Amino acid sequence: MNLTVFGIGYVGLVQAAVLAEVGHDVVCVDVDAAKVERLNQGFIPIFEPGLEALVRDNHAAGRIVFTTDAALAVRHGEIQMIAVGTPQGEDGSADLKYVLSVADAIGREMAGPKIVVTKSTVPVGTADKVRETMLAALKLRGREELGFDVVSNPEFLKEGSAVADCMKPDRIIIGTDSEAAEAVMRELYAPFNRNHEKMIVMDVRSAEFTKYAANCMLATKISFMNEMANLAELLGADIEEVRKGIGSDPRIGYHFIYPGLGYGGSCFPKDVRALIRTAGDVGFEPVLLHSVEARNNAQKAVLFDKLKAHFNGDLAGKTFALWGLAFKPNTDDMREAPARVLMEALWAAGAKVQAYDPEAMNEAQQIYGQRDDLTLCGTKEAALRGADALLIATEWKNFRAPSFELIREQLATPVIFDGRNLYDPAVVARHGIKYVSIGRKAAG
Ligand code: NAD
Repeated sequence: MNLTVFGIGYVGLVQAAVLAEVGHDVVCVDVDAAKVERLNQGFIPIFEPGLEALVRDNHAAGRIVFTTDAALAVRHGEIQMIAVGTPQGEDGSADLKYVLSVADAIGREMAGPKIVVTKSTVPVGTADKVRETMLAALKLRGREELGFDVVSNPEFLKEGSAVADCMKPDRIIIGTDSEAAEAVMRELYAPFNRNHEKMIVMDVRSAEFTKYAANCMLATKISFMNEMANLAELLGADIEEVRKGIGSDPRIGYHFIYPGLGYGGSCFPKDVRALIRTAGDVGFEPVLLHSVEARNNAQKAVLFDKLKAHFNGDLAGKTFALWGLAFKPNTDDMREAPARVLMEALWAAGAKVQAYDPEAMNEAQQIYGQRDDLTLCGTKEAALRGADALLIATEWKNFRAPSFELIREQLATPVIFDGRNLYDPAVVARHGIKYVSIGRKAAG
């Protein structure tokens, strides 16, 4: 099938590559000319396991094309997929300006029937706005007779395993009341829907809402667990034991109950806030969502507070090794990453940071540029040299079994503040290192 994807970000690029891999002809269009140019030269702008080879092979085979030419792109696809960003607006709502500018472009350029698929995370009611925007553009051209459907098809990929998630989706949500559009969507996704039925078809508003309900549920699990962790510390319990104890109940499960520094990334924070805003628009007070957000904001400060207490409030002039900058492992994404809040608090207190992340070093360089109080180190070992403590903000696999001897030797004072509970406190203490983590008694 001929498919056009608007927006070559995490969602657009990965979906485009996966759909090209199964044989569809995909034209990807973005307003970022530099990004398009780099992609055409074979440079992949984001890190996702397996993505580079997939894009390179399908680009070479001509099944995926990158352009800034919206007119060409609209002409190409019977399906027009919108995967542009929906960042947080000033009032917390999702800003739809990019989505609606794509709807306008499709309305201005289309010459035949189209199925417009909203893949971006958009508030309930957005399909109506996309339809109105397209109709207005068609009217200006006197082409109101051109038919189109607007389908909601939210994306559930996880950064860090985005390619695998799109290749083997848990579910494919389709929101439409048109049988013809449903049939086209079934054809598009047939290669991913072979073993058992994964497609769940519903009305458009329910599909739009499903995405927010899913992300808010996951954010709630994280904030709940962080609340339990903070309480466990005060009660003298070990949250890691509690986690295993409750996870063994299949009604609770082991996923998403890891205590830590709070959720970050480009989705959970903005989607929780956007749903709070949506609820407000219809006069509903979402007490639970407010608490989820408040707990998360407070959680990002927990490690810093422990550090400050350890050094009796005096962090000025100290240097800290920081392992992990990305908001989670297997990605270079630092949007709303807890590591940023931690680093910025350290700088505000007059401390310096020696940071290492396996993938997010370029990203950190771009965000913070050159500054005296940040050294970006080539290895995790280099970050330790002479530091007053080691701080851990992201649970990269590569951090899980370090040489504790080396850590003790390299640090000026042997203490680890672990925001991800990577280690057994008894093991760290045995190496003569003080160990402070989340929801557990300090050891050593
Ligand atoms: P992103 O910021 O990585 O990419 C968005 C891209 O859209 C950018 O390259 C930007 O230049 C481009 N763009 C903006 N306006 C455009 C226009 N008029 N025409 C063409 N391109 C345009 O965003 P993302 O992380 O891929 O997220 C996209 C959407 O998917 C958001 O709504 C997000 O909430 C949702 N989502 C993201 C994830 C994720 O893990 N990142 C997962 C599920 C859903």
